[in-house]
Order: sequence, then C-alpha cells, then structure tokens
Amino acid sequence: MAKKKILIIYTGGTIGMCRTDSGYAPISGFLSEAISRIDDMKSPDAPDWELYEMSPLLDSSDMTVDEWNGIASIIYENYCEFDGFVVLHGTDTMAYTASALSFILEGLDKPVVLTGSQIPLSELRSDGRDNLVTSLLIAAEGVAREVTLYFSGKLLRGNRAVKMSADKLVAFDSPNYPHLADVGITVRYNYSAICNYERGVLRFQPLSKVPIGVLKIFPGIQFGLFETIMTEKLSGVVLETFGAGNIPSYGGELIPIISRAFESGSVVAVCSQCPSGTVTLGAYETSSALKRAGAVSAYDMTTEAAVAKLYYLLSLGIPTEKVKEKMEENLRGEMTV
Ligand code: ASP
Repeated sequence: MAKKKILIIYTGGTIGMCRTDSGYAPISGFLSEAISRIDDMKSPDAPDWELYEMSPLLDSSDMTVDEWNGIASIIYENYCEFDGFVVLHGTDTMAYTASALSFILEGLDKPVVLTGSQIPLSELRSDGRDNLVTSLLIAAEGVAREVTLYFSGKLLRGNRAVKMSADKLVAFDSPNYPHLADVGITVRYNYSAICNYERGVLRFQPLSKVPIGVLKIFPGIQFGLFETIMTEKLSGVVLETFGAGNIPSYGGELIPIISRAFESGSVVAVCSQCPSGTVTLGAYETSSALKRAGAVSAYDMTTEAAVAKLYYLLSLGIPTEKVKEKMEENLRGEMTV
C-alpha cells in the first residue's frame, strides 16, 4: 500500500522557537533544522511528509483572522495532494485557531491535527518530539477526519479544546467532551466521540474581520462603564457569565444595554465561566432576563469556540436572526444542545 503523505504547516509557537535576548521567538529555518535531528521523522514506519513554513512565523498571541484564513487556504489548496495535515502552532491561542479552522473548512473529510509544545524542540526535555511524531501518525491513520488538537497523550476535538495550564506539559483538555483518543503504547480511539456526520466536498469559507467582543462578568461589575462598548459598532459579543448563565441583577443595568445591542443588530451569546457544564438560560431569575433581552445560549461551548463561531456566522452575510438561530445549533460538534 502506498505510504500516506502528510503536510506539516509550521505557523510559529514554542515548538520551533529559539532563545533570544528578549525571550523565545520563532526564527525561520530553526524548526526544520530541529526536525532533521529527529530519527523518528525519517523512520520507514513514518508517513511521507513535507514541511511548509508560513511567513512571518508568529508567537500565537499575534494570530488574527488573516492567519486563520491563511492556514485554512494552504490546507484547501493542498487538500487533494495530501492525506492529512499537521498544523504546528503556539499553545496560547491554539484552541482558538482549532475552533476557527473547524468552521472555515466546511465539509472537511481529512485529519487536520494541531499541535505544539511547551518546551522548544531544540531544547532538553522537549515535549515537542512526541507531540509532533504522534500527530503525524494520527494524521496518517485517518480515523479522526476533523479538526483535532493533539497534546501530551490526548487527542481532542479542536473546537472543544481549552489550554488548561501555562506550564504543565499536559496543557490541554476538553472538559465538556470526551477525548477522541488516548495515546499510550497504542492510540486508543474513542470511536463514538469522533465526528461521523455526512461530508461533501471541501469548501473554504474565509472569515471577515467583523467587530466582536468578549465581556467577562465579575462581582461588582459596573455595567454602565461597558455601555459605550456594547453599541451597534459591535456585531457580536460573547458574555462570560457565572455558572449556568447568571449575571448580577443589581440595578437591572445590563439588560437595557443588551436589549439595545440586540435591537441595533448585535448578537449576544452567553457562555459560562465554568470550564465544564452548560448554560441554561432561565434556570435562575438572574439569567431569565438575558433571554428576554434577546441573548442566545452558547450552551457548553468554550469561549474560544463561541468567538470563532461568531466570526464565522457573521462572515456568512446572513440575517441577524439566522445568526442567532445558528449560534444555538450544533454545526461542527462544538456544542451539546
Ligand atoms: N507564546 C507561545 C505561543 O503561543 C507559547 C507556546 O507556544 O507554548 O506561540
């Protein structure tokens, strides 16, 4: 049987970074040099692969909609030539990029595995070697044909993943969704958790730079201060609320702001600050008002997925009512309704 062929797309991030006077930074050519010293990457058991280095290489804190579109377009243009894709990315915003790619790449039917590392590949004790080699094998196996994130023994659905630790090597998890695979001596797939929806041909739906915002509620929040932000200039807002979707009720200040935002065409999506569990608008008096004001539930979606989904839906040019409706629909396995 012909060997599988995988395209590795390097976007930047710690995995290929080098120490500089001002801290770690990605340097062109540094990653390919480090990979050339990994024997496993040349093993006859490894799939064939090619490396595509993006320019400029970025710390993932600098990622924007443009880079998400850029990564997706490389996958789109090379889709027929390769059996799968590994995207090497900084860990800080990897969950956002994974979520965005899951929406941009409509009808995806090949593995797209995002990975990176907490310690650069060129340094002692790097976690990058296993993350890279295992991602390559997972991409070649072709079992999980969706956007996933592999990190330290766990294969996660990309739009369910969250960066949980700034310094542990086990840095990611998906608190609201089972792992797609756990990797020990073998890769143990959780077949029932893997996407099995109908796919057609791959379509590339680029995201536009729509103005959206994220507002985290905290005790004592003075909503009046945010009135100037939540205007018709914002097409969408992700509200990070307490528990099952609750906001402070004092003074009833937020509701008129949300009603006005809604009337002027903004979409307000309610997420929870809790890493696990779901938003249930109306379960408490403190959340019923949100629903009445026109907010939509993001159920158990991560903030990362909600941000990416807002970008996506608002880029489609569909009416606001439709955006609100779709926000509460499961499109890519990003939520449990
Ligand atoms: N700041 C880095 C980045 O996100 C962190 C990492 O890759 O682990 O690009």
